[in-house]
Amino acid sequence: RIIATTPSSPNEEAIERALRPKQLDEYVGQEKIRDQLEIFIGAARQRKEALDHTLLFGPPGLGKTTLAHIIAREMGVNLRQTSGPVLERAGDLAALLTNLEANDVLFIDEIHRLSPVVEEILYPALEDYQIDIMIGEGPAARSVKLDLQPFTLVGATTRAGMLTNPLRDRFGIVARLEFYTAEELSRIVTRSASLLEVPIKEDGAFEIAKRARGTPRIANRLLRRVRDYVQVKGNGEITKPMADAALKMLDVDGVGFDLMDRKLLEAILFKFGGGPVGLDNVAAAIGEERDTIEDVLEPYLIQQGYLQRTPRGRIATASAYEHFGLTAPRTNPN
Ligand code: ADP
Repeated sequence: RIIATTPSSPNEEAIERALRPKQLDEYVGQEKIRDQLEIFIGAARQRKEALDHTLLFGPPGLGKTTLAHIIAREMGVNLRQTSGPVLERAGDLAALLTNLEANDVLFIDEIHRLSPVVEEILYPALEDYQIDIMIGEGPAARSVKLDLQPFTLVGATTRAGMLTNPLRDRFGIVARLEFYTAEELSRIVTRSASLLEVPIKEDGAFEIAKRARGTPRIANRLLRRVRDYVQVKGNGEITKPMADAALKMLDVDGVGFDLMDRKLLEAILFKFGGGPVGLDNVAAAIGEERDTIEDVLEPYLIQQGYLQRTPRGRIATASAYEHFGLTAPRTNPN
């Protein structure tokens, strides 16, 4: 599928790793975040301290993992990577924390999915670089305090609103990643093409960029599919007409919506009269999970002005009607 949830195969993961920028100045876009991090990292390095705990949030594929790796590299420290659902028991996290070296980065992806017992261990670790662990069981059990090396937690989440307040309060740096412009994605596609040694015309890169849902992971994914297409149907070079033909074949339309985007908008327009309609009803109608709709599908449609979230439910906007060749109903002034 084209929508950017996670890498779809081990092969894709390997390619993603190869395409990942390694330094802050190779990281395209997100200028505000880059400027801030440059200062905070520079200052922490001068003081030989750990960087403040950092929360990165935004839809999948926008570069959170990439940024975590860059932070560790620019700090000149190790990165240990895990994710919320993987840390099942308190001991899993304790083992990771006690193995950290001074100022290391611990990257926890999907941090909103930490279990409450694991989160409990994390609080004193974040605040005082200490953990309380229980040794033994029953009447002989006792709690032991362990000192940790200073470290930086980098947490990534698709929705900051899903974090508990005490956890969110412990991040000194909070960065919200934005969708990328077509120009920025075009630079990413051009860079990736050169790493993959695929010849590409500037307008070919732009055509892919325009249709990548503002998301680097999707841009790189489309690039690889277009590369296959030109290898078989063309002379190996990615031009605008070739990119256009390949993307049509992949069911990516002129504004970059893929099948799932269209299914969602069509359900709201045709099954629910344009809305307002509740998330559960939409989810049932298109056979997709609520979380996927909220975290993956909707943010881009909302940012592009095709969909609105209101207290009464989802509403298709005039742009959505136009996209499907319909006339928008006159808005009720009330
Ligand atoms: P996330 O963790 O937010 O899901 P990733 O960091 O895994 O996203 O990024 C997905 C892919 O997109 C990676 O292969 C990476 O190379 C590319 N990418 C993300 N952000 C950028 C960026 N700012 N510049 C260049 N490439 C990027």
